[in-house]
Amino acid sequence: MCVRCRIKMGQKSRKRSEFALILLQLLTLVSSAPPRCDSGQYFLGRCKPIVEEKPKCTDLLLSYCDDMAYTQTMFPNIVGHKTREEVELGTEYLLLSVVETLLGGECTPDIRMLGCSVLAPRCEKDKVLKPCRSICEAVRKSCVHAFEGIDMAWPYFLDCDRFFVSDQEGCYDPLEGLRAEEEVEAFSSAPPEDSSTMIQFTYHSNAQMNSIIKKTEARCSDIATTYSIGRSVEGKDLLVIEFSNNPGEHELLEPEIKYIGNMHGNEVMGRELLIYLIQYLCSEYLLGNERIQTLINTTRIHILPSMNPDGYDMAASGVEDSNYADEEGPRYDTWNIGRNNAQNIDLNRNFPDLTSIVYSRRRHKGYRTDHIPIPDFYWLGKVAPETYAVMKWIRSIPFVLSANFHGGDLVVSYPYDLSKHPLERNMFSPTPDDQVFKFLARTYANAHETMANYSEWCGSSRDSQGGIVNGAQWYSFAGGMQDFNYLHTNCLEITVELGCDKFPAEEELYTGWQENKEALLTFMEAVHRGVKGIVKDEDGNGIKGARVSVRGIRHDITTAENGDYWRLLTPGIHILTASAPGYTRAMKKVHLPARMRKAGRVDFVLQKSVLEPDTEEDDINIPSMGTYERFDPYNHFERYAAAEMTQIQEQRAEKPWWWNYFVSSGGSAPTWLLRHY
Ligand SMILES: [Zn+2]
Repeated sequence: MCVRCRIKMGQKSRKRSEFALILLQLLTLVSSAPPRCDSGQYFLGRCKPIVEEKPKCTDLLLSYCDDMAYTQTMFPNIVGHKTREEVELGTEYLLLSVVETLLGGECTPDIRMLGCSVLAPRCEKDKVLKPCRSICEAVRKSCVHAFEGIDMAWPYFLDCDRFFVSDQEGCYDPLEGLRAEEEVEAFSSAPPEDSSTMIQFTYHSNAQMNSIIKKTEARCSDIATTYSIGRSVEGKDLLVIEFSNNPGEHELLEPEIKYIGNMHGNEVMGRELLIYLIQYLCSEYLLGNERIQTLINTTRIHILPSMNPDGYDMAASGVEDSNYADEEGPRYDTWNIGRNNAQNIDLNRNFPDLTSIVYSRRRHKGYRTDHIPIPDFYWLGKVAPETYAVMKWIRSIPFVLSANFHGGDLVVSYPYDLSKHPLERNMFSPTPDDQVFKFLARTYANAHETMANYSEWCGSSRDSQGGIVNGAQWYSFAGGMQDFNYLHTNCLEITVELGCDKFPAEEELYTGWQENKEALLTFMEAVHRGVKGIVKDEDGNGIKGARVSVRGIRHDITTAENGDYWRLLTPGIHILTASAPGYTRAMKKVHLPARMRKAGRVDFVLQKSVLEPDTEEDDINIPSMGTYERFDPYNHFERYAAAEMTQIQEQRAEKPWWWNYFVSSGGSAPTWLLRHY
């Protein structure tokens, strides 16, 4: 096992033992609690009688609340627990004792102290004081994302409206003890930088990752928004953060780009780079970095740091799955554990293989290499929910450019990934857009600190091609994501391999960021190459779904909802044609100078025509494949996979991963912790 895996395992087992210790302490408390009086017991001298007397302040003896700024509390507490023992046996207190572990260190000790102020409220002069609502609301605002990250509901006893009061009502600050400590620290050390703008170049758990995504959204709410594209097999949100000057909306002529990390769960550098990138974009925008402001103001950027969070968990915990060892031998373990999703599906082999369809039709006159429908039989196979979520995502947004990040080598690969010859595993298999793809791949590789000059291949010796390689020439495979992007949508995607080590040591993360930062930015800026424009009718209305063709490139781009399109192109002279059913064609010749930094604007006005455009004779030679719309994956996925999804969701609704922590404590099941209950 690698050193890094041992470190990871070490952390995990340490957390487990902490947790075991907590449980042990709780059990000890249970056994030492004085017995209650049932009828008859008092007379046998086995317990004390319950005497109704006026509640008094009593010493605060709860061990998880020993850093509160006061020492006296009173029972019953704010939620009605009558004794210290009752508090200690309750799920609320158990939650406070494990919340740090569950949230991966997020939001502590704030959450715990907030909870203490409810379970053991401050008592002065035999009167209970209530904690301040404003403090509760501030903690909730910054911590609710951490709870969402582990799919846990905001605990009922931290309800700011129910259990907290306003300043006017004489409340106290439950975090007072914390602030006193902070002041001492701030006094004794150099003034710390604003911690919210500091990027931690460490590994992030899924909960920490989601928390950072949500916090970044909150910090940069004018230019960022988040959304989930679906859930993993184990029910984790596939969370995307979007940056744009108008987040949440497609703007006319504004190109859209996506970055996808961690498709293979054990290839983790890309995931971390994207977590750093989102913080960087937000901070730099706020700081007034002109380059970042221009980028965000002119581009809609979507970032999915982890496409395979289940695989990541598996890889990070370094679990040795004996099933794998039996099948492929132990040598494969560290290379493969966590690569696939939780159904053991390789997501980068799970997309519809449209490349084979294109190859099988390439001798037909007028065959196409764009907007190939998904064949019906695809849905009969096993479609991972992660694959499905991404397919649905990339169909719903007019993406122009994309990169997905892997590890295991240091190179950018570009389509096709599938060899054009079934028996040749290493055959150069270019797309009609080979020039554009080479340009895009070089854009990343050249802006990377070492990639273009890297002369060796990890674990094999082959000639370098300046840090870029055609996927099929490297090694051929079917069902990959970049081929699917190219053949099904307008989006051009490349695959970036970020280094030989799939799960590098934590110290290497900062180096990785430095090596890739410029490339990550430059590649996004490349979406503004080529031409863009609007295809309109004579009344000036945009035509949706019009085709924009480039002479010599057998791959059309279609227009988006309002007739806008983007066509990435290399510099030179190009002849463009726009066409749409029921309209005449329009043609334009454009010259793109070598040093263009903005897409050339080329609009088309199409006139109504009684004649259909002359594409029909081409179509006669192509066996019917149905229409693009008819093969919407949504309908098909519903038909074939809905039952399975429901089953998964039901299982999840019953058992989140942290559920056993609470039910095994013997108390009643705390359904109030379930978000989807
Ligand atoms: Zn990979």
